[in-house]
This record gives sequence, C-alpha cells and structure tokens, in this order.
Amino acid sequence: MSKSKSSESVKVVVRCRPMNEKERTAKFERVVSVDVKLGQIIVRNPKEASANELRKVFTFDSVYDWNSKQIDLYDETFRPLVESVLLGFNGTIFAYGQTGTGKTYTMEGVRNDPERRGVIPNSFEHIFTHISRSQNQQYLIRASYLEIYQEEIRDLLSKDQSRRLELRERPDTGVYVKDLSSFVTKSVREIEHVMNVGNQNRSVGATNMNEHSSRSHAIFVITVECSELGVDGENHIRVGKLNLVDLAGSERQTKTGAQGERLKEATKINLSLSALGNVISALVDGRSSHIPYRDSKLTRLLQDSLGGNARTVMVANIGPASYNVEETLTTLRYANRAKNIKNKPRINEDPKDALLREFQEEIARLKEQLQKRSGKKKKRSQRRRAGEGNDGEDLEGETEDDEDGDDKGDYWLEQHEKLERERKAIMEDHSLVAEEKVRLLKEKEKKMEDLKREKEAGEMLAAKVKAMESKLLVGGKNIVDHTNEQQRMLEQKRQEIAEQKRREREMQQQMENQDEETLELKETYSSLQQEVDIKTKKLKKLFAKMQAVKSEIEDLQAEHICNRQDLEQTQNELTRDLKLKHLIIENFIPLEEKNKIVNRAYFDEENEHWKTKPITRIEDDHQMMSRPLSAVGYQRPLAHHAHMAMMTKPWRYKAENILMLNMDMPTRTTKEYQEPVIAPKVAAALEDALRDEDDIQVDASGFYSSLGPTPPASASGKPSKCPLILIRLIKHLSHLLSFSPSIA
Ligand code: ADP
Ligand code: MG
Repeated sequence: MSKSKSSESVKVVVRCRPMNEKERTAKFERVVSVDVKLGQIIVRNPKEASANELRKVFTFDSVYDWNSKQIDLYDETFRPLVESVLLGFNGTIFAYGQTGTGKTYTMEGVRNDPERRGVIPNSFEHIFTHISRSQNQQYLIRASYLEIYQEEIRDLLSKDQSRRLELRERPDTGVYVKDLSSFVTKSVREIEHVMNVGNQNRSVGATNMNEHSSRSHAIFVITVECSELGVDGENHIRVGKLNLVDLAGSERQTKTGAQGERLKEATKINLSLSALGNVISALVDGRSSHIPYRDSKLTRLLQDSLGGNARTVMVANIGPASYNVEETLTTLRYANRAKNIKNKPRINEDPKDALLREFQEEIARLKEQLQKRSGKKKKRSQRRRAGEGNDGEDLEGETEDDEDGDDKGDYWLEQHEKLERERKAIMEDHSLVAEEKVRLLKEKEKKMEDLKREKEAGEMLAAKVKAMESKLLVGGKNIVDHTNEQQRMLEQKRQEIAEQKRREREMQQQMENQDEETLELKETYSSLQQEVDIKTKKLKKLFAKMQAVKSEIEDLQAEHICNRQDLEQTQNELTRDLKLKHLIIENFIPLEEKNKIVNRAYFDEENEHWKTKPITRIEDDHQMMSRPLSAVGYQRPLAHHAHMAMMTKPWRYKAENILMLNMDMPTRTTKEYQEPVIAPKVAAALEDALRDEDDIQVDASGFYSSLGPTPPASASGKPSKCPLILIRLIKHLSHLLSFSPSIA
C-alpha cells in the first residue's frame, strides 16, 4: 500500500526578525548575529559580555537574518516540502517562537503584497501551478482551518463558532477532528477566500486579538488528492496532507498570583506547547519508550509530524534585541532539540477515505444515468422516424447507443414542434366534437408538460455532472504556453541555487568540524617554542569552548529549575484542590453513596474525561434499571425491613403516601321551595275573614229565608248580624283555600 523510505530528521530553520521601530528608538542592543553561510546563530549574553566574550553558537539546517526574503525562505526550505505533499507525503510546517517574532509573518505574511506573502499563500500558488502543469492526472484540493485555544478545538470555517470539536481516532487513518468542515477549492482565489474567512472567524469572539492569537494555535490544512493511471492500468490515488501551523507564543505564561480559574487558564494555555516540548524531548531522548502524545490536543493531532510518517519543517522565530535574550535562548535550545527527531515519511497510496475516489464514482454513476436518458430519447426518435407520424405512446426501453451532445438540442426542439403541430391540427379539425377536442388538447398539453419536465431533469443532471467534474482539476492545458515555460525554468534555476547553497553550507559545517579534529594530526612543529605557542592557542580555544559548554550547562540547569518550580507550583495548587475535594467527600457524602459513585465512574479514553455509567441492574447491561414491583397489597415498593417493622410499629408506616379520596359531588340543579307572595289586599281580606266568629259583629237575621231552609246555627245561639255578602266571601275564600293547602 505504501512505499516506505528511510528515516529523516525534522528540518529546523531559524529566522531572526529585524529590529522594530520601538526597539530602535529605545536603542536596544542587538545580541543576535546570523551566519547565513554556516547556518549558525550566535547569541551574546549582554549581562555577561563584560566579563568575557561568552557567545553561544547554535547550528541549524539553515538560518535567515532580518534581510531574508519570504520567497527565498519558500524556495529553499518550504518548496521541497510542499513538493513532496504533491507526491502524496504528509507534511507539516511549524512556526515556533515568542510572540512578536514573526511567526504569523512567516506563515501568512502581508496580504496583498506578493513580495511579503508568507508560506501559506505561496503554497497555494505552488500547488495550483503544479496542477496546471501536470498531465494525465486528476486533482482534488481541500482546505480546513482550525484553532486550538485552551485545549478546545474550534472549526474556523464553520457557521457555528461556538461549537467545540472533538478528536477521534481510527486504527486505519489515525487521529482526526470529528465534524471538521473542509472546502473543495478549484483555484488560488478560492482557497485564499477560505483562508480569509477563517482569519475573520479567528478574530470574532476574541476580545483582544493580539492576546488571543498569541495564546492559540492555528492550523491550516490542505489535502491534496491526486489520481493517476498506474502501470497496472488501474487508477491510483495518492493523498498528501499539508499542515501549516502557527503556534502560540512560546513565552512563559505568568502564573504568579493566579489562583483557581485563572491559574487553570494559565496552565491550559501553554499545555499544548509544553506537551509539544515533552514529546520532542521524549523522541530525542531515545530511552523513553512512552511518547506523551496524548497529553494535549496539539500533539495528538500532529502525532504523524513528530516521529511519524510525515515530513516536518520547524521554523523557530527569534528577535534580535537584548531584552529578549532569555526567550531567544530558550527558543534556540528548543529548536536545537527538535533537530534530532527522526521521521519516516511515506507516500499515502489508495487510502480508504480518499474523497477523490468518491467523486469519481459519483460522476460515473451520474453519467451513466444521463446516458440512459439520452439512450431512451434516441430510441424514441428513431422509432418515430421509422414509423412516420405513427406517434403516441412512449416506448420504455434502453439502448446502449452513444449520443453526442448537439443531437440533444435537436431532439427537444423536434419533439416540441411536433406537439405544437399536433395541437394546431386538433384545433383546426372541425370534424371533432367539442368535448373530444378539449380532451385531446388537454392530453397534448400534458405531454408537453412532461416533455418540459424531462428536459429540465436531464439538464439538471448534466449540470450536476459538470459541477462535480469542475471540482476535479486537471492540468496540461497551458503546458505549451511560452511564458509559463520560462517561469518554470526560472523556478527550477532558483531551486537549483537553493540546493547549491544548502550543499555549500553543509560542506562548510563539515569542514569546520574536521578542522578542529585534524588540527593536531597535521601539525609538525619546527621548534619547541612554536609548539608551545600553538598549543597555548589551542588550549585557549578549547578552554573557551569548555567555558561555553559550562555556561550552557548552567543555563540549562537554571531553566530546568525554573520549569521545575513552575511545575511544583502547579502541583501544589492541584494537590490543594484535591485535598479540599477529599475533605468534602469524607465529611459530607455517606460512605455508601460514595462507593456507589466510585463503582460507576470510569475513564472515557476517547474524550479523556471521567464519566459515570448509567445505573444498571447488571453490569454492562445498558438498559436502565426498572422500577421494582410493589409489595403485594401495598401501594408502593416496600423494603423488607419496613415490611417487618410494620408489624411492630404500624403507626409509623401508616400515614405515608395516603391520598384522601372523597367523592366529588355534582353541583345541585334544584332549589328550596319559596312561598308565593300574597297581595296585601287579599291578605287583609283573609285576615278579616278568618277572624273568630265571636269577633264579628254582624246582624243578618233578615236574610235567612233567601239563603236556605235553615239558618246557620251560631255557636252562641245568638242571631248573626253578618250581612249576606260577607258570608259569601267567606265561603268563596274557604273554597279557594281548600286548593292551596300550604297556606297555614
Ligand atoms: P508573531 O505572530 O510571532 O506574534 P508577527 O508575525 O505578528 O509575530 O510579527 C510581529 C511584527 O513583526 C509584525 O508587524 C511583522 O510585520 C513584523 N515582522 C516579523 N518578522 C518580520 C520580518 N522577517 N521582516 C519584516 N517584518 C517582520
Ligand atoms: Mg502571530
């Protein structure tokens, strides 16, 4: 599957920026000198300068001073790397250094200024030029852009900037960012647009952009997929991934005085960077079998680039002024260590997740569909021609005929005209009944609609194929272009020069080394005095060297102590935190509960978090535990203990959970009886009438004869004086009253 190559070291170059305006006006001393020829950086320590001429010398693959041009850096250092990405290797470029030393300048440079463009825009140009010159190859270029800030990954190209992404690992493709968006780009302009969008998003949400960018890592990823016909007659796909990393500022984050959240924040900011340092140390050490890639998101993501299968270039950026000397030395030491990392680059051939393969398959599928459609049409039109005028029903059938494009337009036009003609014929045909005419017309109209729809669908399919094909880039179009050819020659020459420079530098470095070693062997002394002189000189030289090494050791020790103090401080803080939590657990959480939680806790390797398992009846059974059955005869579940206790203390368990269940009465629809109101006149009359007979003083002796044979006997036997009219009234009333029994 992949061609392996022997291992190669991480390439480390150092770039020193010019003095800036502020440093010049403040008249800061320049302590860094750069020997471009020898590839050396020489740092004078201003504090020790008076004592003796102690200089620190660091040698790298190549070094660049303040006059270096972006394009020179690109041609000499980055172009070979991008070239190998185009061949299917993975490649990574890191920019490391203190804030303000030119990391972003090196990676991105100044936009809209071709002279001062950084690696990223230059690589765009390089990649697309390469494609335009290629022959018989298909390319697919994708770009992604992400940022790591406080150990959180943000997709700089996604619409939702508040979302945080997770890292995932697959055995076949390694570590990747889940749900990271990537955009297929077809030209330099498009990929530049992607970068600009990402840069804008980077500043969104950051209150202080300078601070934010100095504390976060930005990674621009370009994936180059290339498909080419191999000697075996099959298409082979190579995938190269280029990571362009602008790291956070390497300066020590001040933790002094920070506590709690602020301290955690400060620790987190540089976590990725210190983890990177640890990974480098572990890789270089050679003794440690464990490389702590998993300590941070950055090192996990770039695992391939550090001791893996990628090609890696690290640019260490430094400043020249005296007040930065400590940081400059730290950066140089860091870079010096990184030189010794060994990678084993190899070409990624036919990986499973190549998007290009998916694209090719999809295009083939769509094309087949399109062909089926046109095949159908052709058959139909052929049939029509043969049967002249005998039209009507559709014929469902597929032919494998090829049909060329210009035939298509004719077909649609022909069909349309034919339908139109038929419509007219129907309109003019007077022999048809009106109803029949309408029906036929409708039928024709429907057919025209169908025709239109079919045509549209065909066009859509063709457009889709075209859009997909346009994403696959092929070269070879302007290969004969004269200016292009010249440009290429120029580039080649520049590359040759760069290569020559590199070789020269290497030779010089070697010579320097050999000089020292062979000095002794070559020399023959003519006199004792001369021998003394020469040996004294040599002794002096070696002594100076020893002094340098000694001071280097001292420096390293000092730095080590500093680091150690830092770690100890962090450790103390963490221990204190832990103790507090223990205290709370011991004193406030019942042992039983604690054990339960401990049993449920597990470490999620994927997300690197402690989590608690859901409560399950049986271990590894992911069903939630079901509610236990009620105790027979009771309303709710009952523990055995409670069940027993109920026997002895029934009142203790009685009042629990009892509902009052009185009946709900319906609202009343009847009323109490109310006495009717009697008019006052009637009442008075009644009153009168019902008075005791004794009280009535009426003489009615003269009326008897007319009323009846016998006069009403009065209780007293006295002749009644009541007039006849009154008696009648009374009789009438008593008759009335006999019907309303409730009057009482
Ligand atoms: P960093 O990203 O490391 O914090 P920058 O790239 O933002 O630093 O650089 C800080 C400033 O120094 C910028 O204004 C940049 O233009 C300038 N600068 C850095 N390196 C160079 C260089 N090699 N030549 C000219 N200007 C530079
Ligand atoms: Mg920057």
